[in-house]
Amino acid sequence: ILILALESSCDETAASVNLNGTEVLSNVVSSQVKLHQKFGGVVPEIASRKHLELILPVIDQALVEAGVEFSDLDAVAATYGPGLVGGLLVGLTAAKTIALALKIPLIGVNHIAGHIYANFIANPDIEKPLICLTVSGGHTDLLYFASRRGYKILGSTQDDAAGEAFDKISRFMGLGYPGGPAIEKAAQSGDPSAVDFPRADLGDSFNFSFSGLKTAVMNYINNQQQKGNLVNKADLAASFQAAVIDSLSSNLMAAVKKYNAKSIVLSGGVAANQQLRKSISKQTTELGLKLYYPPLDLCTDNAAMIGAVAYYQYLEKDFAELSLSADPALKL
Ligand code: ATP
Ligand code: MG
Ligand code: FE
Repeated sequence: ILILALESSCDETAASVNLNGTEVLSNVVSSQVKLHQKFGGVVPEIASRKHLELILPVIDQALVEAGVEFSDLDAVAATYGPGLVGGLLVGLTAAKTIALALKIPLIGVNHIAGHIYANFIANPDIEKPLICLTVSGGHTDLLYFASRRGYKILGSTQDDAAGEAFDKISRFMGLGYPGGPAIEKAAQSGDPSAVDFPRADLGDSFNFSFSGLKTAVMNYINNQQQKGNLVNKADLAASFQAAVIDSLSSNLMAAVKKYNAKSIVLSGGVAANQQLRKSISKQTTELGLKLYYPPLDLCTDNAAMIGAVAYYQYLEKDFAELSLSADPALKL
């Protein structure tokens, strides 16, 4: 089954061709990061215009790199939410047009399911039950999967997403956009125990909170500046990163124990963070469990992960009507 998948929910215009879900024949990602950098974040209107310019060349490149033609395709998939409505409409409209012209099924895919399924590309048979930590620019969720389709949400962030916290603190520290990689780089030469930032404790729940941490970091910087002290950016970045990682991993490991999980799965852009991977990997090994995370290029937004979900939807004949609308606030 050959599926062309499109992703355009944020600031990456992406197209992939997947054979039977897991065989990625091409995975083209055109990032607009440079365009948004000078604004310190994604500007939705600029993003939609850029998606419009890029979607057709990106699709063409995905077909060429895969060595296939439109007429070879069995289905076309697109992210229809969550995300920025302008961007979603570009990818979804392109997919609808292709579906209509080629008379092939249209598959609407949830972007967050895509982030999770990025793990099933290299490892389709991860042992269940599994606990999945999804940490991206807009989401922070802890999920329990008894089977691939049967999951429940154990906890979510009550305020900022983990990636959002990285982006906001990076911007405040003048480290630039996107914040995750910038903070990770600055933290490499810093001491994670230099400043003892708070780790939110939301009691028995598996929920997360990062706004208190964000305020604590900002207050710390402001206080130091008022006292005329130079702020050590490396120490600050390392201490902030350590606080985020502690909050994420303590909830994750508590859930793993409570639900007797066999495997742990990380997904989303923040799962690209090496310190997060290391910290969780260490705790996982101690428990004798298996840890999975996608390769770096499948952590942040891409279309191969959308194609991976689409394949399973294809098998279940979970097709969309051409009237499918973009849903910016789509839930899992
Ligand atoms: P969502 O998937 O929730 O709709 P999104 O698509 O913007 O949001 P992703 O593309 O999955 O999010 O991930 C981008 C986020 O990941 C950004 O917030 C970015 O700062 C963060 N990120 C990327 N690399 C790293 C890293 N190495 N360490 C920490 N965070 C990172
Ligand atoms: Mg992005
Ligand atoms: Fe994403």
